Amino acid sequence: MLILHTLIKTLEKTVKITELKFRELSEDKKAFVKLAKKASEQSHAPYSEFFVGCSVLHDNGHIGLGSNQENASFPSGLCAERVALFESSKTLNEIKVSEIAVYATSSKYIVPKMLVPCAGCLQVISDIQTRQKSPIKIWMWDGKDDIFVAEDAGQFLPFHFELKKG
Ligand SMILES: [Zn+2]
Repeated sequence: MLILHTLIKTLEKTVKITELKFRELSEDKKAFVKLAKKASEQSHAPYSEFFVGCSVLHDNGHIGLGSNQENASFPSGLCAERVALFESSKTLNEIKVSEIAVYATSSKYIVPKMLVPCAGCLQVISDIQTRQKSPIKIWMWDGKDDIFVAEDAGQFLPFHFELKKG
């Protein structure tokens, strides 16, 4: 009997996330992040009671907003990040996204201090980064003084799905 031995390589990646103080951000940055909180007020989350808002900054200064929208048919709902990104993409097709901010509050759950977008949203952010050939900075805020920022979606999703024409 022939046994094939497979060489397994170990891939390692260093993740860089920066923790800052909200009070030390520029006024523009505070305003941008606060818009994610404002967007969470439009959340429709009667099932999870996890209210998420997202603000999306484009290169031309336009800021799009989105909030999570749940549905009685659970898979039909959508995360705040994707609501905001798809809405912005619809109207600003060729204008790059430079940053997003994510905020959440909940009457039911403890909101993580570092609110990382879910893998589905990270895939969407990664795809937009690939299309526009530039990174999207991700701000994560729980409304208190600690705020986290990652330079791009690859910090959390280093091996995203990508289609390349053959
Ligand atoms: Zn998500």
